Amino acid sequence: MALHLLELPLASLTRADLPPVCLITGATEGVEYRTVKFTWYPRWISLLAPALLLAAILAAIMTRRATAELPFTPQAYRRWRLGVWGFGLSAVLAVTLFITALVLLATERNAWAAAAFVSSVAIPVAAWFALVRDRQVVVKAIRDDALVLRIPSLEAARAISSHLAAHARGVLPEVASVLATDAAKSAPAPVGSTCASHPQVVANWICGRCGAFFCDACARFPTVGGPPLCARCFEVRAKEVVVSGALGLKRLQTAGFVVGLLALVPGCWPGLVGALIVNGLSLHRTLKVDGRPRQWMPVAGLVCCAVSVVVWVLLLVA
Ligand SMILES: [Zn+2]
Ligand SMILES: [Zn+2]
Repeated sequence: MALHLLELPLASLTRADLPPVCLITGATEGVEYRTVKFTWYPRWISLLAPALLLAAILAAIMTRRATAELPFTPQAYRRWRLGVWGFGLSAVLAVTLFITALVLLATERNAWAAAAFVSSVAIPVAAWFALVRDRQVVVKAIRDDALVLRIPSLEAARAISSHLAAHARGVLPEVASVLATDAAKSAPAPVGSTCASHPQVVANWICGRCGAFFCDACARFPTVGGPPLCARCFEVRAKEVVVSGALGLKRLQTAGFVVGLLALVPGCWPGLVGALIVNGLSLHRTLKVDGRPRQWMPVAGLVCCAVSVVVWVLLLVA
């Protein structure tokens, strides 16, 4: 049995959005909702682990959090949480046994030492298989638009995905604020005009983005009390905003700028290498977004790198 992927839009993480199917067992009877917190950072940061401080700074900036109300049967949820605790305890036990084994080896009780070594490996492995594997929900990624989980139940993954696909979903606050600027240009339609999609219905609005007349049924409001967009523009723009990656990019730019400053510290080679990688990536992604928002940040980061290299060359020559 393997874990299955489940993609939940960040705007649909409550009991109101998700059908009652246990993520672990797939059961639909006696399901309760539990609040679960997830954290995640891009895996490439762990490649920088040899430069511990650098990796820690990047992880602190790039870490994303999501809180979700997820459906579980109480037994499956309890087993998952206890399993994680049990595995933690087995790890502590393993470390203790390993140290004991070293002591036994030093006092030349080799047979006992071997037994302690073997159990220091076997106990956590056994605990993993018995307590954790296929009983837990794991975060795979937290993207701009979605929380991606790996869950044990294939039935739950299918049921929840099709439920989400069938129901209208909201948009994230950051996306809504971009859509609100489009909608600000919408205006009341002249008296007697009709909806572009429903010719027999009176239109109340002119879309601020495409100029189409639309009726109340076609109106989509990015903000409560603000003007609407037509349904088509709302959908198109919501996708564009998320695809442009404008939300996650902000963090990458900030990370690049901070690490760029770190590169200025004399002798901080990991900072320089990290700043080149992160700002290169950040600039590459910034150039792909309309209007190149906050382009100065990766540029400033790369300037810091250049200054750092020049200082080094001068020091070497002197
Ligand atoms: Zn429109
Ligand atoms: Zn209409």
